[in-house]
Amino acid sequence: MMVLKTDREIALLREAGQIAAEALAWAGRNAVPGRTTAELDAGVEAMIRARGAMPEFKGYHGFPASICASVNEEVVHGIPGNRVLEEGDVISVDVGVRYRDFVGDTAWTFPVGNVSAAARRLLKATEEALEAAIRAARVGGRLSEIARAVQRVAESYGYSLVKDYAGHGVGRQMHEEPQVPNFVDAHLLRNDVILEEGLVIAIEPMLCAGTGQTRVAGDRWTVLTADGGLAAHFEHSVAFTGSGVEVLTRLDGRTA
Ligand code: MG
Repeated sequence: MMVLKTDREIALLREAGQIAAEALAWAGRNAVPGRTTAELDAGVEAMIRARGAMPEFKGYHGFPASICASVNEEVVHGIPGNRVLEEGDVISVDVGVRYRDFVGDTAWTFPVGNVSAAARRLLKATEEALEAAIRAARVGGRLSEIARAVQRVAESYGYSLVKDYAGHGVGRQMHEEPQVPNFVDAHLLRNDVILEEGLVIAIEPMLCAGTGQTRVAGDRWTVLTADGGLAAHFEHSVAFTGSGVEVLTRLDGRTA
């Protein structure tokens, strides 16, 4: 069941989204060579708690940390730890925040120092896919228009899409209906969703340089590309309101 939000609920989702965005921006500034992913996790958690919010991922189905930190061939759900970031890595950081009972969810893939032209191109394409999806989102439109926008950008660059994972509704729960896939197929077209006022969704394209097939690591969390190729992941939480589509996790000029 899709849960439509009131204006007051969207205002709280906006606050949660801004806290998540500020914490994510901090992680990006600190994703530098020599830093460990555990240090990024600790800093993000401290920022979230300082704002009176809670890290939503911590304890989620037993997930042990406040961020997901996924490096290079890791797509999503990487567990922060003592891995030291190196020049040329890319790191996807996913931040989930609960503030006054509402969730903000956002992710970004950051270059660590100087990265290869190939890596830069993949990051640019994935960010473009997210922005195209946001432009395609409109009140009264359809979910498949968002999926198609992501798919078009991925295909125009010759990249693969991860099809095993999708975006989702977001509200009092981190994962609500509808699922927000990044590609169009017969199943989506049969079950297409009208994007009504009050809907809030997380759009999160995952693009891969090689195959979009994935596997789960021995830690039972980290999702990796099956061929070890590079992956990128960008995510915004987006609200459909009476005045249009609003990106709740885009920093509004306030800084951390
Ligand atoms: Mg998400």
